[in-house]
Amino acid sequence: MKSVERERGGAGDVARDRECYRCDRDVAPPRLFRVDVEPPEIFSADYAHSVRYCCPDCIAAMGMLEFTERWKEEAGLLE
Ligand SMILES: [Zn+2]
Repeated sequence: MKSVERERGGAGDVARDRECYRCDRDVAPPRLFRVDVEPPEIFSADYAHSVRYCCPDCIAAMGMLEFTERWKEEAGLLE
């Protein structure tokens, strides 16, 4: 896994809205998943609210992809 803190020419955390933050693949913005992280209060002195954009493959790899009820129904996964 790559470090989130990697740097690119000193650009730091400037918005890279066409790119998955994990795998660096170019992904069109409409296909990027928004990962919104809100730290619990106990960590609020150390960690800020953060937003990353991620491709579908990486979201799936993190176990965060959730199919809709409609998709499950069509796939015959609902009783
Ligand atoms: Zn990715």
